[in-house]
Amino acid sequence: MESFEELLVRAEAAHGHLCAGQILGVRMALLGLAHLGIADPRGADRKRLVTFVEIDRCATDAIALVTGCRLGKRALKFRDWGKMAATFADLDTGRAIRLVALETSRDLARQRYPHIESKSQQQMLAYRELADADLFTGQWVRVHIDSADLPGYRGQRITCPLCGEGVNFGRFAEVAGRRLCLSCARPELRYWSPAAPASGEAG
Ligand SMILES: [Zn+2]
Ligand SMILES: [Zn+2]
Repeated sequence: MESFEELLVRAEAAHGHLCAGQILGVRMALLGLAHLGIADPRGADRKRLVTFVEIDRCATDAIALVTGCRLGKRALKFRDWGKMAATFADLDTGRAIRLVALETSRDLARQRYPHIESKSQQQMLAYRELADADLFTGQWVRVHIDSADLPGYRGQRITCPLCGEGVNFGRFAEVAGRRLCLSCARPELRYWSPAAPASGEAG
């Protein structure tokens, strides 16, 4: 795999800018991989890893880049918990490590670079240098991943009888003996509602 600095260059290009989150994310991913003994996550080991991320911030992009785990491959799982944390699960060994970025690392960055005014500059410098133990805590965990949630799984696809839209395996609910898509079965889960047609637009 590339060096830390090479990964940062790639992370910056993919994310659009270099920021403290990219540095933290690259380091978190490298630490997770090191714990699991996965050396080549985007090459020889590319089918071994599933990564759960718990925040939709800058670091998430870096974690996806380093691990090669992507939403579109079903290897990146997002839990919207607002935590700078990620769990790296090795499908080969069944081992998983959950890493959490320490809130105290911001204070350490300020202490280390008090003469630098910008907090993000302080953090970008410090997050390169601080020891792993100053940046993260880790815990070995068990992760159950349903077979239908594993990368590469193929299963039955249904058509929702109410809205007529196709739905992949497992993402439907039985309601009165009918298999409905989740947005028809549980409208309270919908993130959208129909918009009123703009004037002059066909309804
Ligand atoms: Zn960023
Ligand atoms: Zn439906």
